[in-house]
Amino acid sequence: MRQGLSEDLIARVLGAAPKYTIAELEEKFPSRDLPDGAMVTRFAPSPTGFMHLGNLYSGLIDYKLAQQSNGVFMLRIEDTDTKREIKEAVGIVIDSLAKFGITYNNDETYGPYYQSQRRDIYHSVAAELLRNGRAYPCFLSQEEMDEIRENQKAAGFATGIYGEFARYRDITPDEIIEHLDNGEVPSIRLYSTGDPNKRIFFKDTVRGSISVPENNEDIVLIKSTDRLPTYHFAHLCDDHFMRVTHVVRGEEYFGTVALHIQMFNMMGWKLPNYIHTATLDKIDEETGKQRKMSKRKDPENNVAFFMQEGWPTDALIEYLGNILAPGYEEAKLKGAVKNFWEYEMKPKKIPMSGGLFDMKKLEWWAKEYIGAMSVSDLVKSVATWANEYGDEKQKMQVADVDYLTAVLSIERDNPKRIRKDFITWKQTLGIEEFFWDELFVPNTEYKYNADVLRAFLETFNIADDKDTWWNKIVKIAEKFGVKNGDVAMDLRVALSGRTNTPDLYSIMQVMGADRVTKRIKGAI
Ligand code: GLU
Repeated sequence: MRQGLSEDLIARVLGAAPKYTIAELEEKFPSRDLPDGAMVTRFAPSPTGFMHLGNLYSGLIDYKLAQQSNGVFMLRIEDTDTKREIKEAVGIVIDSLAKFGITYNNDETYGPYYQSQRRDIYHSVAAELLRNGRAYPCFLSQEEMDEIRENQKAAGFATGIYGEFARYRDITPDEIIEHLDNGEVPSIRLYSTGDPNKRIFFKDTVRGSISVPENNEDIVLIKSTDRLPTYHFAHLCDDHFMRVTHVVRGEEYFGTVALHIQMFNMMGWKLPNYIHTATLDKIDEETGKQRKMSKRKDPENNVAFFMQEGWPTDALIEYLGNILAPGYEEAKLKGAVKNFWEYEMKPKKIPMSGGLFDMKKLEWWAKEYIGAMSVSDLVKSVATWANEYGDEKQKMQVADVDYLTAVLSIERDNPKRIRKDFITWKQTLGIEEFFWDELFVPNTEYKYNADVLRAFLETFNIADDKDTWWNKIVKIAEKFGVKNGDVAMDLRVALSGRTNTPDLYSIMQVMGADRVTKRIKGAI
């Protein structure tokens, strides 16, 4: 510890007197009154205008832990990097969460939830550390820091501002005043007394008991440029005063846990539980090897991709849920739970190393999900998607809801044998295009048996039930000495342009007499 600063000097160093004492903050943000075991979590994105699949993955863990424990899930915007345009970027986050059914509860008591609006809180905590000699104002310029870094590298030392390199560690009040009178704005640095030769132990909820070397760096708490906090300091203040119990974050933060523990200890605050999640990996299409998702190469790394392509957002949640909660799929197949929200995930079982994201597996979850939907929900989802993301063609397909409903009802009446070829809303409309005259492409390659088609038209009656209809086809086959299937194939291709379709009788019923007649005549 060093000697603490006077209140006057603290006010000058921070640019203004701190607004609160620690006791006042403790009172302003009271402990939460929640049932035993309730988890308080937060999703804390830095708004970049882009929501990664990894963001959604860790947000899902946060939300699920709070949801299943009757806790609280918050959204906190980490916008201390003021260089960025954040309004639109925050909109993207909020919108994405809503589309995935992830709702947050930002209770006013613990706000504000934008870090840029919490300056008074950070400055009040920084003041306390300055007061008791745990922090100091540092006047190193960028050039000086660059120089220190170069020298450290040349000498083979660890880089950073620590020990003898922390030139202002023991700055006196008079020297501080001199710098301030000069018009310099300091950063506020931690006065670290950690020893990297010693280790501290802590328990990571996913990784178990772990020891890490103590931190000896005098890291920046408050930046000189805008007097906003660094990630580390904001994490300390916010997760304490928002009364967060479980901090879920990427493994890239694992390296700074020692620093975070040090700060919590200095303040005498209870350490939150940490869950450091692994990144999401994929199998590279070219090399066949597992690797991290890439922003540049992988469109599916951007959550917006799934919305634009019309993937059922619930299916993506189901699949991500299965990655982070091994055992979920089994429970669902057994019928023990209906969906991921009903499954109790075990924090300890969250994968420790690269969870593998595979679009083929997602397809399976999507097919299952759509297969289990009611026709009316399916129609609603497809139409909502088309109206928001679709092109003119797709919008036209959903304009007549009754026709769309009839088309999508085909092969959905037997719960044991529901068709499983729908994967996305977009692809669903794609495979059904032939039902719309504007989109139907006649098959000009196929060799129709015109006599067969003519014979069918002669006896065709839309009011026939399925047996009557089929008996007519059998008769035609007999008459022309061909197989029943050949007759059906001629009709199928004439109506759809394709050799592979769902149930032919249903197609005719949905298309109606006029359309069927017209298409068969066209083929003839
Ligand atoms: N803003 C940080 C990020 O987006 C938050 C990390 C955390 O959850 O503590 O990576």
